Amino acid sequence: MKAIRVHEFGDPEVMKIENVPDPKPDAGQLVIHVSASGVNPVDTYIRSGLYPLKPELPYTPGMDAAGIVEAIGKGVSRLNIGDRVYTAGTISGSYAEKTLCRESQVHHLPKDVSFAQGAGVGVPYGAAYRALYHRAHAVPGEVVLVHGASGGVGIAAVQLAHAAGMHVIGTAGTEKGLRLATEQGAHHVFDHHAYDHMEEILRLTNNRGVDVILEMLATVNLGKDLKILAPCGRIVIIGSRGTVEIDPREAMRRDATILGMVLMNASESEMYSIHSALGAGLENRTLSPVIGRELPLHEAASAHHEIMETNAFGKLVLII
Ligand code: NAP
Repeated sequence: MKAIRVHEFGDPEVMKIENVPDPKPDAGQLVIHVSASGVNPVDTYIRSGLYPLKPELPYTPGMDAAGIVEAIGKGVSRLNIGDRVYTAGTISGSYAEKTLCRESQVHHLPKDVSFAQGAGVGVPYGAAYRALYHRAHAVPGEVVLVHGASGGVGIAAVQLAHAAGMHVIGTAGTEKGLRLATEQGAHHVFDHHAYDHMEEILRLTNNRGVDVILEMLATVNLGKDLKILAPCGRIVIIGSRGTVEIDPREAMRRDATILGMVLMNASESEMYSIHSALGAGLENRTLSPVIGRELPLHEAASAHHEIMETNAFGKLVLII
């Protein structure tokens, strides 16, 4: 089969398409014939070699894929050959024609959800769900700011919060990103490059502030986030690319909480719970991944360049 392989950490161009042996499932594992593979920022951090998680070289990148179950190992009971599925993590990497997974990493994909959309579920929707519910413990009626609502995680968060009856504020850096966030359920949108957008958000809440902030770029925003938080508000740091200075007094005077979040820290039972909820949302169509761009597998290097640019618009996926 064809797969993207990384033999040394470095720039996107270290990813090469190669022929490798087909994976074979051991007990509790399955092989998925991949139709689409999701590209996530974390794939680029790992490929660069600068991320704490360093796979043994050579390796195939990617955690998210969607396709059809092709082979199952002994003891697999929840899934059958021929099932439409998406993955939340893989053993062998998802940028490939076939991927090997543990049964717990594979979930049914409803028939109305395309494979490209299925490839946009695992990391983005998993992260948005964990941030909103496991970390922020957001509840219906609360005001949620999705700070960075135009990309994979942001769109997922907007859809989840909207479906649960939260009041959703989203931000984006382009007109089309702002439109997309509105279409996906944000009640109000703001341009995060506008110098006064935080004051505008505060005014929108009659100076009470927002209950929950899901933060995609803490490096830029964390200090200012604290100033627009309601009493007992929570900020969940989902994304950050460097250090930031904050005034701890802003947190003290609000009894505020700053929470970190890495999806990979979720336990197997938490992941099962997350994907049970996401599966229900995909089934009842309150959740619907937006695919902004599709590239062929052999253009994985271009995909890694693009995912690190601004002007996000939903998910970027590789079509296999
Ligand atoms: P993405 O699709 O590339 O989207 C990036 C988002 O960040 C876009 O909405 C972008 O908006 C926004 N952004 C850019 N500048 C911003 C600013 N100044 N303030 C607020 N938002 C800004 O990436 P993604 O998959 O959604 O991931 C978002 C971040 O979360 C990444 O840093 C990623 O590494 C991280 N992440 C973390 C976890 C975890 O487990 N903690 C899981 C998944 C992702 P515009 O392009 O419209 O400006």
